Amino acid sequence: KDYSNQTTPTWCPGCGDFSVLRSLQAAAAHLDIEPHNLAVVSGIGCSGRISGYMNAYGFHSIHGRSLPVAQSIKLVNPKLTVVASGGDGDGFAIGTAHTIHAFRRNIDMTYIVMNNQIYGLTKGHTSPLSQTGFVTKSTPYGSIETPIKPGILALAAGATFVAQGFSAYQDQLVDIIIKAIQHKGFSFINVFSPCVTFNKTNTYQWFRDHLVNLDDEPNHAIGDFQKAMNKYIETDGLFTGILYQNTNPDYYSKLPGERGTSVVEQDLDIRHKFDELMEDFM
Ligand code: SF4
Repeated sequence: KDYSNQTTPTWCPGCGDFSVLRSLQAAAAHLDIEPHNLAVVSGIGCSGRISGYMNAYGFHSIHGRSLPVAQSIKLVNPKLTVVASGGDGDGFAIGTAHTIHAFRRNIDMTYIVMNNQIYGLTKGHTSPLSQTGFVTKSTPYGSIETPIKPGILALAAGATFVAQGFSAYQDQLVDIIIKAIQHKGFSFINVFSPCVTFNKTNTYQWFRDHLVNLDDEPNHAIGDFQKAMNKYIETDGLFTGILYQNTNPDYYSKLPGERGTSVVEQDLDIRHKFDELMEDFM
């Protein structure tokens, strides 16, 4: 199956988002997901273009709102494999509230954040994930703010699958996306996806020099919440691999009674019910 729709991406040469796109396509191929059973929803930003490059259902939503759209799609038709994606500004500035509630709600879908620690599409200003001291046109004296730690936020909010990838470590990223899609619940992947045009600090080489690979740590226990927290703090969030996963039941499996039947499988011809209702008032 071909998961590319043959549209040529307009990302800058070298942008980390190319690797995320290829990794998602490779993961879909590995899992043999029929394109008509895959929905990719994106937000706004350079990363938001990804939904337009997949041979799948695509929904390029509005800024910070990919998660509400994606969760709705999954709830209406749980047989679909649903992947939401967006940038760090999309998910952790305007969309922060949706992100936190998605973590705790645990709907069975995957959220990939293409994190370049900057706003690329709007020409390079600081994002909530930019490092303290980061100099851009919007922070000419360096950012004085403390960046959000996405993995800590995810763990604290009750996420059941938390992982990080790096665009240059594509084999690992494909493996993480496969496991994230297989996870029965909400899976969150924070991908370090360098912006080669505007972020001259957090470059490919910078990440190679700083990232710890959890796959090289045989004693890393992904089901241990406290150890996951400790590992995040110990590495200052600079790692790749699956940090944490548990088997808490997903949202849909907890729905009671008839609501456990998906909307697309329900009899939506409610006219007879309406007639019955009206008869009660006659
Ligand atoms: Fe990628 Fe940055 Fe170019 Fe946007 S501006 S396409 S994030 S390299």
